[in-house]
Amino acid sequence: MAFLKQIEQKWQRKWEEAKIFEADPDPNKPKCYITVAYPYPNSPQHIGHGRTYTLADVHARYMRMRGYNVLLPMAFHYTGTPVLAMSKRLAENDQDLIEDFVDVYKVPKEKLKELTEPFEMARYFHKEIKTGMKAIGYSIDWRREFTTIDPQYNRFVEWQFQKLRQKGYITRGSHPVGWCPKDGNPVGQHDTRGDVEPEIGEFTLIKFRYGDSILPAATLRPETIFGVTNMWLNPKAEYVKAKVDKENWIISKESAEKLRYLNRKVTVIESFKGKQLIGKTVENPANEKKILILPADFVDPKNATGVVMSVPGHAPYDYVALENLTKTSAQLKEYGLKPDVMDAVKPVSIIAVTEYSVIPAGDVVKQMGILNQTDPKLENATKEVYRHEFHNGKMKPNTGKYAGMSVAVAKEKVKQDLMAEGKAEAMYELLNKPVVCRCGTECVVKIFEDQWFIDYGNREWKALAHKALDGMEILPEELRAEFNNVIDWLHEKACARKSGMGTKLPWDLAWIIEPLSDSVIYMAYYTIVKQIKKHGIPPNQLTDEVFDHVFLGMGKASDIAEKTHINIKALEEMRKEFKYFYPLDSRHSGRDLVPNHLTFMVFNHTAIFSEELWPRQIVTNGSVMMQGAKMSKSFGNIMPLIESIEKFGADPFRLSILATAELLQDADFSLTLAKSMRDRLERFYRFWEEIAKTVDNATKLSKKSLTLPDRWMLSRLQTHIKMATEAMDKLEVRKAIHSAFYELDKDFQWYMRRITDQNQKQERKEAVDQVLNEILDAQVRMLTPVTPHICEELWEKMGGKGFVSLASWPTADEAKVDVEAEENEALIEGALEDTLNIIKATSITPKKIYYYTAAPWKWKAYLTAVKNSVSTKVVQSELMKELMKDNDMKKLAKQLAKFVGQLVDEVNRLSAERKQRQLRAGTIYENQSLKEAEAFFKRELNAEIVVQREEDQKRHDPKNRAQLAKPYRPAIYID
Ligand SMILES: [Zn+2]
Repeated sequence: MAFLKQIEQKWQRKWEEAKIFEADPDPNKPKCYITVAYPYPNSPQHIGHGRTYTLADVHARYMRMRGYNVLLPMAFHYTGTPVLAMSKRLAENDQDLIEDFVDVYKVPKEKLKELTEPFEMARYFHKEIKTGMKAIGYSIDWRREFTTIDPQYNRFVEWQFQKLRQKGYITRGSHPVGWCPKDGNPVGQHDTRGDVEPEIGEFTLIKFRYGDSILPAATLRPETIFGVTNMWLNPKAEYVKAKVDKENWIISKESAEKLRYLNRKVTVIESFKGKQLIGKTVENPANEKKILILPADFVDPKNATGVVMSVPGHAPYDYVALENLTKTSAQLKEYGLKPDVMDAVKPVSIIAVTEYSVIPAGDVVKQMGILNQTDPKLENATKEVYRHEFHNGKMKPNTGKYAGMSVAVAKEKVKQDLMAEGKAEAMYELLNKPVVCRCGTECVVKIFEDQWFIDYGNREWKALAHKALDGMEILPEELRAEFNNVIDWLHEKACARKSGMGTKLPWDLAWIIEPLSDSVIYMAYYTIVKQIKKHGIPPNQLTDEVFDHVFLGMGKASDIAEKTHINIKALEEMRKEFKYFYPLDSRHSGRDLVPNHLTFMVFNHTAIFSEELWPRQIVTNGSVMMQGAKMSKSFGNIMPLIESIEKFGADPFRLSILATAELLQDADFSLTLAKSMRDRLERFYRFWEEIAKTVDNATKLSKKSLTLPDRWMLSRLQTHIKMATEAMDKLEVRKAIHSAFYELDKDFQWYMRRITDQNQKQERKEAVDQVLNEILDAQVRMLTPVTPHICEELWEKMGGKGFVSLASWPTADEAKVDVEAEENEALIEGALEDTLNIIKATSITPKKIYYYTAAPWKWKAYLTAVKNSVSTKVVQSELMKELMKDNDMKKLAKQLAKFVGQLVDEVNRLSAERKQRQLRAGTIYENQSLKEAEAFFKRELNAEIVVQREEDQKRHDPKNRAQLAKPYRPAIYID
């Protein structure tokens, strides 16, 4: 371990000294600009954070080796509630958090008091995170580092907001937002525990009359009003009768509270348990039918009004609740209901849909085997019925004037009609509740009045965002649909808060711009911050005209320089850097940022920059699990990033986090995995270290001096280079590692077994050295993006020029692809495997092993069969007919028929690729190949080896085995 640490520190120091990751405009080199979402410095990083940054670094390192001038910068997001809420929790002496910081992350106890100040906390963890990023070897250009509370950055964000406002994308008005009642602030994803984006939906409240009051049943499917059979209340929940604006409503206690946030005037008159209303009747406003109020446990008083209309024909929850409440239920008796009341409560079918019988809810409930109201499968059941009915459902004749309409149309129509007649209202509610604010308070929906919003609902803007997305590469591509959906459903987003660190809204200084709005185009700022720092440009000189000029090419540099007193050279350099590095070539982040940050970035770029400056690619990745479980404090399985680098080393950590999962999969980290990666890397290093010193780079042998195993190894190497390159181009890093590390290693082990005792003669030694040299060279280059430290060290030992980090990525050499050698090796491998199987099955200790190679006529028949099978399946009789045209074959008619019978199925089963390869290789001279491998077999099998031809009359073949020989499958006899 100690030596890994030494190597890491050595190369990190050398990189820094040589400034190799500092990227400046270079007109002679294509550029590649990669960024990754900057961190909130509100806690130390754990290994989960390491994945996204490591992937972005691997991407940057790969592109650098592909010949690009790569810029990978980093900054720190001080703004918003993440830092604020954390320091507040600390100030309030939150024991959980203190334990977390002190026990898990080893923050010194005496530091804690200082960290209750938000700025101090940000500064502390900023340093901690940066130290970690350096220790893990990220190839970052640190000259461009900044924080989002730097006054120059504030100017940049002010400029951004002025631009948005000029374009008409900033609105002022009243909209529903996720809201923390305690903080009195709107909440977005980054303000909530578990980073949940509050999803706001609109329920329709249908007013069922009960005496002088109304039971407002909350539904997302108003069109099902015609299928209502009863009402559900939760008998154990607390309900109230309250004056809501001008009507008396009966609703859950929680609902009364929430309606106030929705600007209703609510006065509670009395409160009671739900059971008091069970057995009473209400009137359906759609058809004036009287229906019963029945008890149901699934009714959540916290959801909407706590009053639910029952549509058992089409709603799985209602169906199951009704199944549970039969005539014989104790519950009926409890509420004094007679069994025959249930006769009137039978599922009614009001929607026809091809996927189901008359009662869709019943079908799905039975299919999924759902038995009770608390079964979590009910959520999926509900979604499934809704999906089919919404897309394919038609309203039945029993729905009056809506009969024949599609569900999608009727849903809106029924809602509008009921509202117009005063029989319904709307209520905003969180669909993914509970959403908990970082301060611990459960969030609600609030109608946020007279506030500032970014209008992501603007249609023209949405069209631009779609256009940008269409022109972008999305990795993995399967997330494109999700991006399109987000663009479609995004609407006005509250963009300012009253508290926290950040930039003030330039035209209304009482407001601070919130963190998902001040982080959408900052990639542009990285390109100029270097000059701002170098020339010490103060914020007041960074006027809107400066940004207009640098980013949009407006105005003349000399005029602006004169007006602002910014050095004209600085201004020109800023413009030059921006023009060189923009547009952004790749944006990396965790998948959880798709519904907000990443999509906001697309929107805002289209608002401010011209089309050729829009981002080109987004890469998203899944999260990190710890031994199969989600990392969380309550599981006690959080591992701080710094600790794991300390324990396992940077390269093993990088390898562990990327080798086990493709982009969208969750990576599963464990101590065992990291240890085994470390051991494997150490073995890899120790092995090559010796060879690196001895291989002679200068020798270039002709192909003639290479044996079949040499040629095979070099051919396989080309395949691995090709596979790894294709995988890296799509950032399928797991696949690339698999090819360049594991598969190549497997082949290499086989090669070493094959050549062991051929290593004696000088000429052989030189040939083997050449092969080793080529493998080492390619493998070190291919592993450099993932495990750069070890690779630099080997590169140095090999006598490589400069840094391997700046060397070129290997390219596959088609001239070294050798089908003949690969097929030959397949023969040897197959023969060895067959022999071992026989030995195992018979428990013989072999003294002498005889191989009989197939006769030439068999090869002819075999290759004809393979050739014919390329376009269509080979048929035995047709193949026979064709072969019998040959006079030599005719003589062997009986043997031929038997052989063809054995071979047809086998050939038909070959992969198309294998067929092509065998045809290209033609007849393999098996006898010669096996003889050449005699020493190998002898060593592997510990027996004498005899190779004979099937057609050799003088062969030793006491059991008459030779006739069983097939091409690629020599017959075997063991003595
Ligand atoms: Zn809060």
